[in-house]
Amino acid sequence: MRIEEELKLDFQDVLIRPKRSTLTSRSEVDISRDFVFRHSGQSYHGVPIIAANMDTVGTFEMARALGNFQLATALHKHYEERELIEFFQALPEASTVFYSMGITREDYEKFCRVKQQVGNKIACVCVDVANGYTKSFVDFLQRLRENYPQITIMAGNVVTGEMTEELILDGADIVKVGIGPGSVCTTRKMTGIGYPQLSAVIECADAAHGLGGLICADGGCTSPGDLAKAFGGGADFIMLGGMLAGHDECMGEVAEQDGARKVRFYGMSSRTAMDKHAGGVANYRASEGKEVLLDYRGPVENTLQEILGGVRSACTYVGAHKLRELSKRTTFIRVARQLNEVFGQS
Ligand code: 5GP
Repeated sequence: MRIEEELKLDFQDVLIRPKRSTLTSRSEVDISRDFVFRHSGQSYHGVPIIAANMDTVGTFEMARALGNFQLATALHKHYEERELIEFFQALPEASTVFYSMGITREDYEKFCRVKQQVGNKIACVCVDVANGYTKSFVDFLQRLRENYPQITIMAGNVVTGEMTEELILDGADIVKVGIGPGSVCTTRKMTGIGYPQLSAVIECADAAHGLGGLICADGGCTSPGDLAKAFGGGADFIMLGGMLAGHDECMGEVAEQDGARKVRFYGMSSRTAMDKHAGGVANYRASEGKEVLLDYRGPVENTLQEILGGVRSACTYVGAHKLRELSKRTTFIRVARQLNEVFGQS
């Protein structure tokens, strides 16, 4: 047994220090990024925020809505082959919609069939497992890279620099970072495993950038300020679940509670998801996600304006003309108190 004494940080442990700036308005800030992916060689231009591949959030409707604002979506993996083929066929080439898959043989074979039908319309894939530290995950990633040299691969999840490096060397263009921070995740509670998300982002980004790779901070953002902190900490992309949940574009039954309209949102390892997609929770495992009822929030476009406005504003406070400059201009200060909540939490 060993104890690591160095303090690790979450979003709520820090604020970003303001800096002198020549920017006069947040409308001058460019929050898009350009990348050339290390393995696929593809060029990317867009606002580097990705809707999570949860079946409530990673929907076709979300992909269309976010696509209008140059944001990306990772589709959930439970769509049928026929639906996926139709959807991708209708997309322009080199879109930033990610096809998601796990690492089973069925996942791989389904992907190969869909890809064969739609060709280059699938430019990006997301290989997603709860625990990115297993040999079977690494083997899968290597095989996928070998067979599809030109596809952009995002793979995860991990939370440490050495495993980020390993995944990049194995073929990932983007490493997805986060174990346990998610809004409907109960992994930390059920297993005791995890890593404070801001430190995970800082450490993994450093490791990835050293090899010409990128990271996606996945989970734990609860406000636009958290996105600013993740980008400030070095995240190239950010994946959002809860912040995009509860909208028209989401899948999730609408319920009524005390006369108010509510939308169901649940973790992909929750009992709800396993009942729905896997015929229940297998008897050797426990659920590692929960279900919540959220207030219905209307079209995602309104929320998006709020998120992008917050990130833009953060850039003006530190004098970053472009999102790319934000991390260079970020100094985090550790704090004991974040918000004044005398009038509640909203
Ligand atoms: P959020 O933005 O809601 O805080 O986090 C979204 C992320 O939580 C997802 O992209 C995924 O990585 C993670 N996640 C989704 N469902 C579950 C779950 O059931 N269990 C765990 N451990 N993580 C989940």
